[in-house]
Amino acid sequence: MKKYDVLVIGGGLVGCASAYYLAKRGANVLLAEKNDINSLASGQNAGSLHFQLEHRLMEQGDALTKQFSRIIPLNCLAAELWRNLEDELGESVDVVMKGGFMVAMNNDEVTLLKKKYALEHNHGMDTQLLTAEEARQIAPYLSKKIQAAAYFPQEGHANPRLVTPAYARAAIKQGVRIQSHCEVLQLNKNAHKWRVSLKIDHSGHREDIEANMVLNAAGAWAGHCALLAAIHLPVSPQALTMSVTESTHTFMPHLLQRAGAKLSMKQVSAGNILIGGGWPARFRYKQGHPDLTQRPTIIMENVFQNLGLAAELVPVVEQLHLLRCWTGIVGVIEDQLPLLGEVPGFPGYYVATGGSGFTLGPAYANLISELMITGATDHDISLYNPGRFGHLNSPEEAI
Ligand SMILES: Cc1cc2nc3c(=O)[nH]c(=O)nc-3n(C[C@H](O)[C@H](O)[C@H](O)COP(=O)(O)OP(=O)(O)OC[C@H]3O[C@@H](n4cnc5c(N)ncnc54)[C@H](O)[C@@H]3O)c2cc1C
Repeated sequence: MKKYDVLVIGGGLVGCASAYYLAKRGANVLLAEKNDINSLASGQNAGSLHFQLEHRLMEQGDALTKQFSRIIPLNCLAAELWRNLEDELGESVDVVMKGGFMVAMNNDEVTLLKKKYALEHNHGMDTQLLTAEEARQIAPYLSKKIQAAAYFPQEGHANPRLVTPAYARAAIKQGVRIQSHCEVLQLNKNAHKWRVSLKIDHSGHREDIEANMVLNAAGAWAGHCALLAAIHLPVSPQALTMSVTESTHTFMPHLLQRAGAKLSMKQVSAGNILIGGGWPARFRYKQGHPDLTQRPTIIMENVFQNLGLAAELVPVVEQLHLLRCWTGIVGVIEDQLPLLGEVPGFPGYYVATGGSGFTLGPAYANLISELMITGATDHDISLYNPGRFGHLNSPEEAI
């Protein structure tokens, strides 16, 4: 039986980046991916690198917004990692960090921006609060209807089709075994080792391996994967929609978000405008449950609303043809914060998932690898400890 220091479950951004950093720290790593590398959320997302407090973290009242703002130091760490990522990986992944606006279109949104600004500054993030005129001086393509904007110079975007494969290549160079079409079927704790059964599709054969540690980086499937070790994690799959317009002349170098509505926009290097912001799609159902093996279906009404918001903020968009819409599945944690750390009562079982996992993926991977190899992290990650859901688990259930 082959033996590894770490089994990583999942070949999305979090899994591939974690495998890379773990191997760089000297670990012997197997990464098992059920499908192809980067075939799910990590390759389907909007590619926004948003470090300002997101709309979804500000829509549930002041008390929760204040609580969520404790994520800001993690966002700042993520910004630093993205700035240096292409040097780290030795190739271009289309990282563009030319600044991002969160725009207010009415008085309520201006109030939200002011509260957000205060919270961000409390946590050391130097967001700028701009008048409409100041914002339009930097971004003349913005609608004359905007009331104000928060600006963070390091926001931007990267290409989701490039980032994870680049991490996978870098991981392989560090000696990681990456096995695609390889499903983790079973996990048993045996003394201090994890005994793992894998199903390898293309040959149809099974392989058993042993690992000292397991990292669950299975995204929306992290809850399901945790159950293989009799661990309960509150990860819910959520279906989201994206749209892209035809290509046009380059005019929009910034990431755009709206303070009080679901909207994100950016222009990619080919000239197309990507439009999203968290609008739901509809799961297909199988035997009464969402079928996570199939792409969710598009809800046209949501696409219309999303495009309407985009055209309201950037009027030029109204002239562009819609090229394509698509859907993807993301994992959402019950309390909206990331899950990052070792699961209490299950020594050697780690999880890294949740939140805005494209923006934060490199940071999760960096931190979890540091924790797994050294036993601690420089950056405080106690807020994201899976132990906050300890009530869902009793260690004696471990198999
Ligand atoms: C439409 C959309 C837009 C988004 N936009 C943004 C954005 O702009 N910015 C941002 O920060 N975030 C965004 N997100 C969220 C972001 O994409 C995800 O948080 C992130 O990609 C999660 O990465 P991951 O590696 O954890 O998961 P995934 O990329 O989903 O990878 C998990 C992998 O685990 C594998 N797996 C599952 N079970 C098993 C098993 N038993 N054995 C082996 N492998 C298994 C799956 O096949 C999958 O490949 C968006 C998400 C969607 C869907």
